Amino acid sequence: MTQTLSDARARRQALNLPYTHVNDFFIGGKWVPARGEERRDVTDPATNEVWGSVPSITTPELDDAVAAARSALPEWSALSGAQRAEYLLRIADEIEARADVLAATNTRENGSPISETRGAAANAAGIFRYFATLASWLDAEDVRPFPAGGAESLVEKDPIGVCGLIAPWNFPINLVVIKLAPALLAGSTVVIKPASPTPLSIRFIIEAVAAAGVPAGVVNLITGPGSSGDALVRHPDVNKIAFTGSTPVGRTIAAACGELLRPVTLELGGKSSAIVLPDADLDAMSSVLIRSCMRNTGQTCYISTRILAPASRYEEIVQMVGDTIVAAPQGDPLDETTVFGPVATRAQYDTVMGYLESAREEGARIVTGGGRASGFTDGEFIEPTVLADVTPEMTVAREEIFGPVITILRYDDSDGTADEAIALANNTEFGLGGLVFGADEDTALDVAKRVDSGSVGINFFGSNHAAPFGGRHDSGMGVEYGIEGLSAYLSYKSIHRKV
Ligand code: NAP
Ligand code: MG
Repeated sequence: MTQTLSDARARRQALNLPYTHVNDFFIGGKWVPARGEERRDVTDPATNEVWGSVPSITTPELDDAVAAARSALPEWSALSGAQRAEYLLRIADEIEARADVLAATNTRENGSPISETRGAAANAAGIFRYFATLASWLDAEDVRPFPAGGAESLVEKDPIGVCGLIAPWNFPINLVVIKLAPALLAGSTVVIKPASPTPLSIRFIIEAVAAAGVPAGVVNLITGPGSSGDALVRHPDVNKIAFTGSTPVGRTIAAACGELLRPVTLELGGKSSAIVLPDADLDAMSSVLIRSCMRNTGQTCYISTRILAPASRYEEIVQMVGDTIVAAPQGDPLDETTVFGPVATRAQYDTVMGYLESAREEGARIVTGGGRASGFTDGEFIEPTVLADVTPEMTVAREEIFGPVITILRYDDSDGTADEAIALANNTEFGLGGLVFGADEDTALDVAKRVDSGSVGINFFGSNHAAPFGGRHDSGMGVEYGIEGLSAYLSYKSIHRKV
């Protein structure tokens, strides 16, 4: 970054963002002033400037938010899927109308490059529009004859009720919208709790919901620390929890929901592998490497940060990965050309630096990067790092780093198979994403089928709104996206009758 810190701050001042220091929650269709004293700061990780703050919800205010969602349920659930889909389509348009200010706010909250956050509104709108297409499935009469004859069952798809939606800070819009859109189509109502580093950008989604005319109480927004999320999870009048975040917090939530017999969807951490087959086209791999393996400065749950390279081409692959990472500019996340920004928080900075230290101690080879990025007067900037000679037992090979760090492991391909690579890929606690790079499509598909994970890409990774996305093992329970994702906000009921 050639600009000085004061330039960076002046540039941010000039953005004139509408939400900075706020003191209200969205409850029952209105912005309601907070009644408590406790607040939390919002810090720009590129400059370390505290530029915003939000109130923490109190217990009576949380009760109000859940009660608002409860009282909105009869009217909202009485609409047909087609009627609710009309609202979803209007919300999509209203979100797109707020794309620029949403992107700038999101970039200030978590340092995601503006090239990333600029797509957030369009992606959110796409999710609302996709779920609107499922109205016909939702509304279709579903009658199933008894196999033995003489009677039939009418299968009803009721909304599950009041849903608590809890999101992390890495994609604060997408990871709410992927819960909100199906919940609304299903006829359920929601209380949203964003992550503490990213509580402001989500307000543009709330604005869009209000502008689309969604009835009061259907969507409510609270802010507060993890304990507010815990209170929402355990609230006696909540019917379902949808959570995206870390595996340890996910376990706590699963335990609470187990005790309460409360349905829960958990999208948790990952440690996904990119298996490079000996016939892979490395130029093609280079062109998708950052998107698939380092998206959002390495802070994306499903990316394949663990590259499994065949021994026969190991050094060639290390060279290509190193060159690709070095060529990607790191800088002010507000710059259009920036690929790597800062990491999102000081806590994340410390975590990632700890992993780099462990890599050094455990004998990994640093190909590029490895420490604090020079050239930045302030902010949580870590050099994009490539680690080679990583062995399966090293900490950096096993745990989710969630920062700009790629590890490259070696597998033995002398037997002409990818068996060892597949075994390595499956030898983690997680099972979220994965990739196979290879020229022969049949072989690549065969390998992809043997990876024990919820999603695997062949020569690229993308998210398809129509296909289920979810983690296996420590990466979560249940899925989002697709009809399967919509089903998580429904409660099925079978009415049997004689024919
Ligand atoms: P986190 O610490 O688990 O927090 C996630 C959310 O839960 C935040 O809103 C947090 O609030 C809240 N929370 C914290 N403690 C809670 C509790 N006891 N009960 C209820 N809610 C609680 O995760 P993060 O640090 O924000 O995000 C990074 C993690 O998310 C990574 O592990 C990443 O892999 C995972 N992730 C997974 C996916 C996926 O789809 N599988 C996608 C993106 C990210 P506060 O912020 O106020 O603490
Ligand atoms: Mg956290």
